[in-house]
Amino acid sequence: MKAILVRATGGPEVLRLEDLPDPVPGPGEARVRVEAAGVNYIDVYHRTGQYPQPLPFVPGREGAGTVEVVGDGVTQVRPGDRVAWAFVAGSYAEKLIVPAAMLVRVPDGLATEQAAAAMLQGMTAHYLASSTFPLEPGQTCLVHAAAGGVGLLLVQLAKKRGARVIGTVSTEEKASRARAAGADEVLLYGREAFAPHVRRLTGGRGVEVVYDSVGRDTFEGSLDSLARRGMLVLFGQSSGAVAPLDPQVLNQRGSLFLTRPTLGHYIAQRDELEWRAGEVLGAVLDGTLRVTIAAEIPLADADEAHRRLESRTISGKLLLKVSPG
Ligand code: NDP
Repeated sequence: MKAILVRATGGPEVLRLEDLPDPVPGPGEARVRVEAAGVNYIDVYHRTGQYPQPLPFVPGREGAGTVEVVGDGVTQVRPGDRVAWAFVAGSYAEKLIVPAAMLVRVPDGLATEQAAAAMLQGMTAHYLASSTFPLEPGQTCLVHAAAGGVGLLLVQLAKKRGARVIGTVSTEEKASRARAAGADEVLLYGREAFAPHVRRLTGGRGVEVVYDSVGRDTFEGSLDSLARRGMLVLFGQSSGAVAPLDPQVLNQRGSLFLTRPTLGHYIAQRDELEWRAGEVLGAVLDGTLRVTIAAEIPLADADEAHRRLESRTISGKLLLKVSPG
């Protein structure tokens, strides 16, 4: 099979297409033929070594395709099932071994690409808005990178829960996209400090929650945007890692809460994975959650996909086309 292999960490050029032996599933595992693999920011952290991985490795954490073979004891899926997954290592490949308990069925009527595009970022937006800080009507949230892959989905899910959404983005074009997703207010955070505008838009109070995936460049402003006893949900670091913090800061700025969650801990139990994936894929199917596929790029050009993601010009989801359905 063909797969992208990273032999040494570095720039996008380290993503090279190679021939690898077809993997064989063990007990409790399934082998899937990957049709589409999702490109996520975490893949960049793995490629650069910011999140270290044993070398060599096949990158990618998300995709959808068809079950080919199952190992002993597998009850969740059968050969021929259309399935999707998130947080499974090695998805930039034509074939992938997945623990069967991490596969979910793609609902009839939903295109495989749509499922691949919605799983990781959709379930992330879902746990942020409904579990980490369960938004309620009347509350206001601040969503950074609101026109990004997670951002566009989080804006929609926050609106569905009745919250008011203030988004931040880097360009006017992205501002239009965030507004089209439902953001009530959109700020351009590169131009001037966003926290004073957040205060102004909330009558001086601040927001109940900030969903911050940008990290280094936004962290201080996020703290300054929170209402008393508000929560900073730091879930990514697209601009770089946040410096170590004295917990006393949380007291001084208003008895704040800080959490650094990861999707893996919100889908670790099979029933929670099924619930989250079911809600996300169901909403995509019935049209109440729109997934924007920014581009579909051949597997062999994974380096180009990473360049585009890091260029900040993408709004929505990047997919790698792996094998035809
Ligand atoms: P995005 O599509 O959101 O792309 C990243 C965006 O971040 C860019 O489009 C850009 O938007 C913004 N950004 C701000 N500063 C920078 C910078 N210096 N370099 C690059 N981008 C920058 O990516 P994803 O939706 O895939 O992921 C968003 C974030 O969420 C990532 O940090 C990722 O690691 C995190 N994440 C965390 C998960 C978790 O469970 N903890 C799960 C999934 C994702 P703009 O131009 O508008 O500033």
